Amino acid sequence: MKIYFIEISYLLASILFIFGLKGMSHPETAKRGMHLAEFGMLMAIIGTLVHQEIVSYTWILAGLAIGSFVGVAMGLWVPMTAMPQRTALSHAFGAFAAALVGISEYYRHAGHLGTIEMSALGFEVMLGSLTTTGSLLAFAKLQGLVRGQPMTYRGQNVFNMILLAATIVIFVYLIFVPGSMPLFFTMAGLAFLFGILLVMPIGSADMPVVMALLNSYAGLASAATGFVLSNNVLIIAGTLDGFSGFILSILMCRAMNRSITNVLFGAFGSAATAQVGTDHQGSMREVGLEDIATQLAYAHKVVFVPGYGLATAQAQHAVRELADVLEKRGVTVKYGIHPVAGRMPGHMNVLLAEANVPYSSLYELEQINPEFPTTDVSVVIGANDVVNPDARDNPSSPIAGMPILEVDRSKSVVVLKRGQGKGFSGLENPLFFKPVTGMLYGDAKDTLTRLVQAVQHA
Ligand code: NAP
Repeated sequence: MKIYFIEISYLLASILFIFGLKGMSHPETAKRGMHLAEFGMLMAIIGTLVHQEIVSYTWILAGLAIGSFVGVAMGLWVPMTAMPQRTALSHAFGAFAAALVGISEYYRHAGHLGTIEMSALGFEVMLGSLTTTGSLLAFAKLQGLVRGQPMTYRGQNVFNMILLAATIVIFVYLIFVPGSMPLFFTMAGLAFLFGILLVMPIGSADMPVVMALLNSYAGLASAATGFVLSNNVLIIAGTLDGFSGFILSILMCRAMNRSITNVLFGAFGSAATAQVGTDHQGSMREVGLEDIATQLAYAHKVVFVPGYGLATAQAQHAVRELADVLEKRGVTVKYGIHPVAGRMPGHMNVLLAEANVPYSSLYELEQINPEFPTTDVSVVIGANDVVNPDARDNPSSPIAGMPILEVDRSKSVVVLKRGQGKGFSGLENPLFFKPVTGMLYGDAKDTLTRLVQAVQHA
């Protein structure tokens, strides 16, 4: 009877995970998808708690209490801007759990493991270990605890490849000779080290891609754990996690027109890649706040283009207020959302949703680009790379081919940024030098707040 209950709850959990993922693929249904997945996780936990092999609940309850405390605290206190590093930390926890389960299972059964069990277990420990340290370094980079720029040295990729090859050779050897404990721990140690070395040469803005990839490894490690423990829900959830993470990393690379190998091994954002750009003559044209307020107040159509600067300035509420004031005056306001604006997938959607910007006002790249020629004013808020026309016009640019929001085709462009700082790519942006563009310097939130007042009096 118990076994049926467990299997049915696992089946329900798996179905809920699938519907949850489906829901999360669209901003409008994302919240519902999240709740479905949460409910699925609850079903999986309940199913596991009635397992006949559980001899004592003491440690389980202790884990539940600590986990719930940490989870609630993170949910309540981690700000939206820190979401990328929070996700990195969660990956590290999940992967470490998978690695520890693998290590403890190996410790218990080392001499008696069959080929298939050892393959799954070795895979789990290898991926779990490298994901743990890789995610921890990703967290440290994103949190600014260590330098965010790529850390490179000569022969780095070759050294990393040799290390990975050595780890895999030991893994394969262990499949046939599972009893060698020193080799097993050497493999785990090398995998922990490889995680750090893999992430070291990657810049912090590429971390979301790396995290999606590490997430995919953690998922596959969980699926392997499922095989070791004969647990169906772990196999299904791990596989879903593994493949959705992989697809997400590919989609992000596509949105940047970069290959996954370029992200992993190209040290993008380092001084070397940033030097290759167009030299720009001329100067940027600074504009006054009052002039822009008047221009906005009397426009027919205004498009806001948010970027990473909107997130750092926490200007999402201020931009909504400006949109409200403009809409009250009869101006049509739209938001152009680039898929990799900011520092994580859906970064702008999350921030704008937090400020209650209606989803119907958000336009994806393909939808908004044809609208720029009929836009009176495009307001670029802390965005840089995603509006860089070099990606379209300069085939030798490091970001050539990356789809951009073509704000330079609007009748007028205003760029809100603090100064002459570069974007993540470190490249100069010819948009800022075009006659159609005016620069309004200052922190995005502060400038938008002052614009709201100025438009009200225009
Ligand atoms: P960006 O190119 O990094 O530019 C951000 C701009 O915001 C900077 O030029 C900076 O200029 C300005 N800024 C910073 N703080 C500000 C503040 N408080 N107020 C006003 N302006 C501020 O940003 P993006 O256009 O959003 O492009 C995202 C980049 O990240 C792309 O290169 C993308 O490929 C990369 N990336 C994104 C993802 C993702 O999932 N979203 C993943 C991987 C890589 P000042 O210093 O002059 O103010």
